[in-house]
Amino acid sequence: MTTVGIIGGGQLARMLALAGYPLGLRFLVLDPDPQACAAQLCAHLCAPYDDSKALDELAQRCQVVTYEFENISLEGLKTLATKVPVYPPPAALEESRDRLLEKRLFQSLNIPTPKFIPIDSLEDLRHAPQVLGWPFLVKTRRLGYDGKGQKLIRTAADIEAAWEQLGGQALIGESFVPFQRELSILAVRSPHGQTVFYPISENIHKNGILHMARSRPGDPLTQLAQDYAHKLLVHFDYVGVLALELFEMHGHLLANEMAPRVHNSGHWTIEGAQTSQFENHLRAILDLPLGSTEPVGFAAMVNFIGVLPALSDTLEPPGVHTHVYGKAERPGRKVGHATVRAADEKTLESRLHSLLGLLP
Ligand code: AMP
Repeated sequence: MTTVGIIGGGQLARMLALAGYPLGLRFLVLDPDPQACAAQLCAHLCAPYDDSKALDELAQRCQVVTYEFENISLEGLKTLATKVPVYPPPAALEESRDRLLEKRLFQSLNIPTPKFIPIDSLEDLRHAPQVLGWPFLVKTRRLGYDGKGQKLIRTAADIEAAWEQLGGQALIGESFVPFQRELSILAVRSPHGQTVFYPISENIHKNGILHMARSRPGDPLTQLAQDYAHKLLVHFDYVGVLALELFEMHGHLLANEMAPRVHNSGHWTIEGAQTSQFENHLRAILDLPLGSTEPVGFAAMVNFIGVLPALSDTLEPPGVHTHVYGKAERPGRKVGHATVRAADEKTLESRLHSLLGLLP
């Protein structure tokens, strides 16, 4: 029996386990939270991410270890990788969780990005608009997610306040991109280099949190997005699912960030693709043949943030697939999602309209 270790026990770990049980896999999650929602269905090591005893236990009990979010112990992960295969490669985590390293990597691989500069002092911040223009964003290099740790600076009057809020830690300034669309591409690579890509996702954020992701099979920017993701896969000798988030500006793509893991913008693949991102991530890290990423009709996913609609409501409309994560409701927290699927875009639109009407 193969046991997969997962560092982090949230909904991504939970959906990995749900995809892995039909393949006969077992799961062991490491998460310091006794209420971690993946622990409802996986064996659970309840310990800090850098707990050396818990990491040793993962190495002993698992054939392979993966991770489901970025804010884990990089040192712990690197040590673990000397004892058991760890995928995606820890180097991908190291670069992706520092926005400056990540943008410099994109630049070195000729993947276009918004203009950016490091900001280490109030002086740097005052100087930033000369390089970035107005308005611009200032973001923490580390520990930012879902729009946290960033400020939009519209005029010189905003600079002091932004520094008071974010100063004292390493920052990055970025030009504000008035994009037409936000897109992401999910790529999967196995240890032999077998590589597959999902159809592009078109993503809508609200208050910095993903609200909706739609599959866009046949999108004209597919090839360009795949080319950029492919450069990253090759650079890291990557194994697993990689998500690359992009802004579309007049037919060009600018890279915003990458995530070395399964990704919220790919949840629609559970019902909207031949093989889900979760199953393909497991296939990749276990060196199994990757599954087809062909779309199954058209799909759109809507996140349930903070509160869940009544189950009896979301189970009613045709073509809606509900996922409840088993987490306590709390403002701003992702507690579930639903994917709507249809054979054509017109039907998808009307089903999506019904689903959105159910949201609180
Ligand atoms: P991030 O945490 O960097 O993914 O940012 C969260 C959201 O803020 C993104 O999904 C975008 O909607 C927006 N955003 C981030 N960076 C930029 C940028 N340089 N220009 C315009 N919008 C941005």
